[in-house]
Amino acid sequence: MPSEFEIIRRYFSRPARHAVLGVGDDAALLAPSPGMELAAATDLLVGGRHFLPGADPRLLGHKTLAVNLSDMAAMGATPRWAMLAMALEKDDEAWLAVFSAGFYALAERFGVDLVGGDTTRGPLALCVAILGEVPAGSALRRDGAHAGDDVWVSGELGGAAYALTDPGDAAAARRLHAPEPRVALGEALRGLASAAIDVSDGFAQDLGHILESSRVGAEVRYALLPRHRIADPVLERRCVLSGGDDYELVFTAPPAQRAAIERLAGEPKLTRVGTILAGAAALRVLDERGAPIAAERGYDHFAP
Ligand SMILES: [Mg+2]
Repeated sequence: MPSEFEIIRRYFSRPARHAVLGVGDDAALLAPSPGMELAAATDLLVGGRHFLPGADPRLLGHKTLAVNLSDMAAMGATPRWAMLAMALEKDDEAWLAVFSAGFYALAERFGVDLVGGDTTRGPLALCVAILGEVPAGSALRRDGAHAGDDVWVSGELGGAAYALTDPGDAAAARRLHAPEPRVALGEALRGLASAAIDVSDGFAQDLGHILESSRVGAEVRYALLPRHRIADPVLERRCVLSGGDDYELVFTAPPAQRAAIERLAGEPKLTRVGTILAGAAALRVLDERGAPIAAERGYDHFAP
């Protein structure tokens, strides 16, 4: 196996454009812009748990960074710097070259510098830590939703989960393996949205996090939810309400911001799906006749 230093030099040492000092010293040196707060997040993908051992390394490079960019989007932050720690099973330079190309293709599209990381031998695991910037006081937090706010969803839901049951659906497979982080939308929602989260564990569960943090309830009309086309209605409900990995944004905003939010819609589309209610942090999803639908909880890594 090439040495740790060789791997970093060959595959993970593109010049940093927004760092004082990038890869190659004990630590990177970063200079946040004046007036900005740093947003920091990390996400760990484990082989056999989050992706299959034979997963396409280019898509894996994309997704490893994309899920972290999505967390920046959900905060309204502009992603700037990433660090990548990897446990690798074997000496596979072809795999590393393709993985790093997939990672950098997305990093360069979003102006993100890879400024550090670590490699070791072990069961395949990929961990990115990401830093972004957001004007002080304007981050999109989970605890800002108020009774009377609208609930909005970007793009459509359910495709990523559906891809696991129908590998022939190419659009669903793209949703699962090559999610598009909604960074520009997150930035544009600063000052408009009252709360936001990205859909990583399922719409019901992720909106539930906003409700718990904001101490409010919500009512959502299932028929209004933007949905991936799925023929089986029972499977559709499960994928749309409880499927994870869509990496769309769910956000709340006062009705006074409707026109401004509608002006942002395009790619992705933005759909108003319900209302925030005063009271307990409970989500009610109603069917076409106004009857409540029982939503399964989404993905919980520590569920038995
Ligand atoms: Mg998130």
